Amino acid sequence: MYDVYEIRKDFPVLQQKVNGKPNTFLDSGASAQKPQCVINRIYDIYTKEYSNVHRGSYMLSEQITWDYEEARKTVQKFLNAASHKEIVFTRNATEAINLVAATWGRKNLKPGDEVLISEAEHHANLVPWQMLRDELGCTLKIFKIGDDGSFIWEEFEKQLNPKTKLVAVTAMSNVLGTIFPIKEMAKAAHNAGALILADACQYAVHHPIDVQDMDCDFLAFSGHKTYGPTGIGVLYGKYDILDSMPPYQTGGDMVDHVTYEKTTFEEPPARFEAGTPAIVEAIGLGEALNYMMCVGLDNIVAHEKELVDYAFEKLSGIEGLKLVGTAEGKGGVFSFVMDDIHPQDLAFILNKEGVSVRVGHHCAEPLVHRMGYESVARASFGLYTTKEDIDCLAAALKKAKTFF
Ligand SMILES: *Cc1c(COP(=O)(O)O)cnc(C)c1O
Repeated sequence: MYDVYEIRKDFPVLQQKVNGKPNTFLDSGASAQKPQCVINRIYDIYTKEYSNVHRGSYMLSEQITWDYEEARKTVQKFLNAASHKEIVFTRNATEAINLVAATWGRKNLKPGDEVLISEAEHHANLVPWQMLRDELGCTLKIFKIGDDGSFIWEEFEKQLNPKTKLVAVTAMSNVLGTIFPIKEMAKAAHNAGALILADACQYAVHHPIDVQDMDCDFLAFSGHKTYGPTGIGVLYGKYDILDSMPPYQTGGDMVDHVTYEKTTFEEPPARFEAGTPAIVEAIGLGEALNYMMCVGLDNIVAHEKELVDYAFEKLSGIEGLKLVGTAEGKGGVFSFVMDDIHPQDLAFILNKEGVSVRVGHHCAEPLVHRMGYESVARASFGLYTTKEDIDCLAAALKKAKTFF
């Protein structure tokens, strides 16, 4: 049984008051709160067994190396990857996508080749491809989404052709909540001879992932959004593809043999983890993913759906409020604007009521412009979000109206 009130007890920050009001934290899409088990694990590592990994031939280093590699196996399980060697630890999702652009992209793309993305991408899955286009002379194609933020198969298919070498798309938009059909898109991409990269930053928070079933070639997500620490992210890549890629950064831990003349490199994933990695953060991420799996991804999905239905019902009843992104089957991210109130002023009033939402372009400036706005407010949910949180948001929005 999923008891959200029991789950909330695992998150100390949620027990804190904000401006003297209960903490209505609706910005999990930017970064999620951490359960006590993750906090404890980090504390324990630093107090009991800290040292560097992959180096020492002493007990502490052996222990922490084991824990670090166990965390990799936890990520493998979370994604249902075929091997733990397909899991590369990065700083965040941004670095994971940049890694693919800098290594696979530089090696494989040439003038005439196309990278296909959607209008709904986060800057992290847009700017690296623009940079690569400018450097290599390849083409960046962008397929359209609907005015309600929906994914439109025909628009995607129209842009897919034999010149497409990579489809790089969000699995769930951080602004609109729209969910993209990655499995079907992967099939179409492969038929066209292209690879597919899924940006699963938001998707991973709310849905079980099976990279083998989706058949994606690359997938990226960030630890801090899946209830883990900051400073750690994941790049999944099919092993043969990873193995064909040159190193990203170079230095310690990723080399096989080095002479003054020449260097040979380790196999993946070590090849892509130059220098001392974010050891404690990786172990903390493993703990967070275990927490999610323990709560149960199916339970998380069901809870999320209930919240989304409830939010639609509550928010659509507010006069002057416009939802930005209303695609069928969307996830727990609600962007909105209110007639006659600048989103910044709106957030200011909500904050006074203890309601934390994010305002701006949400690192997707072209998308927010395409939807017709300069800036929008956004409420996003986590596994600890309650219907009462949505009630508080709705009440605060109604209150804001009385000021203007
Ligand atoms: C948050 C987010 C990113 C970037 O994640 P970082 O942790 O900042 O690297 C990329 N794409 C989407 C859809 C996101 O929500």
